[in-house]
Amino acid sequence: MKIIDGKKISNEVLDEIKVLVGHRVKNNLKIPHLAAVLVGDEGPSQTYVNSKIKACKRVGFQSSLFKFDKSISENKLINEIQKININDNIDGFIVQLPLPVKINQEKILNKVNPDKDVDGFHPLNYGKMALGIETFLPATPAGIIELIQRSNIDLKSKKCLVIGRSQIVGRPISILLSQNKIFGNATVTVAHSKSDNLKELCLDSDVIISAIGIPEFIKGEMIKTGSTIIDVGISRVNDNSSVKGYKIIGDVDFKSVSDKVGYITPVPGGVGPMTIAMLLKNTLKACSLKD
Ligand code: NAD
Repeated sequence: MKIIDGKKISNEVLDEIKVLVGHRVKNNLKIPHLAAVLVGDEGPSQTYVNSKIKACKRVGFQSSLFKFDKSISENKLINEIQKININDNIDGFIVQLPLPVKINQEKILNKVNPDKDVDGFHPLNYGKMALGIETFLPATPAGIIELIQRSNIDLKSKKCLVIGRSQIVGRPISILLSQNKIFGNATVTVAHSKSDNLKELCLDSDVIISAIGIPEFIKGEMIKTGSTIIDVGISRVNDNSSVKGYKIIGDVDFKSVSDKVGYITPVPGGVGPMTIAMLLKNTLKACSLKD
């Protein structure tokens, strides 16, 4: 079993970004600026935003947090987004999801200026991604691709099973890995909650990318010997022995797959850190496109 160390690889990406920011400073070019829009402070959203801001500091980016009360109206939030859209100092921004249920998430994401849409969720950028046109790739799928490439895993003609069909992970990674690109050319199958032959699909796959959110769902008996597993899942489960009172668990039962799997991403320390690194990479790109 070989561990794909997302923490190490993400640090390499962040170091590369830091060097490029240094070159920009030397050449009197604009320092990239990432902003985050956070509505309410429920769940782990505040933690995710804090990690993004911390990563900005690490690479020398500017960052801003626009925090609004969960009672904010949809119209007021759209107004605030429009202000960020025309703020020349901000190169890219994200709207931290999920938004409160009374706010139409799709409507809000459609208001983000596509040139600043470093999450790649605007329909224009999402459409470009699906067509294979250069754009901001959604951060988590981009992070998965980076992990696979930097681990020298060639997906060409490999049977790749993506479990989950969400707009932010399952759907885009399934599209990207089937494309005729250096990182793609896999034979991709997408499974989801209505798939009823998951074990057979898993056993027939060279690569499994799991983005479900059910702790330890994938067991050793479900996988082929030597397969690669990318575990995107993040579930918080109670853990009285930890100071936080919880621990983070992936979709894969790590122990039971460990003597069969070829390559695997751990949770935590796999896909998670890559997501932030790729968001920063997109922000650098948004800033550089304006040079
Ligand atoms: P989602 O809830 O939008 O989608 C879950 C998907 O799993 C659905 O498409 C559903 O069809 C599928 N599913 C549910 N039960 C299933 C079953 N029994 N068999 C097969 N498929 C099933 O979730 P999401 O936003 O894509 O996130 C998935 C997981 O990945 C979550 O744990 C989330 O926290 C995590 N995540 C991690 C990162 C990261 O950076 N590591 C980023 C985004 C999401």
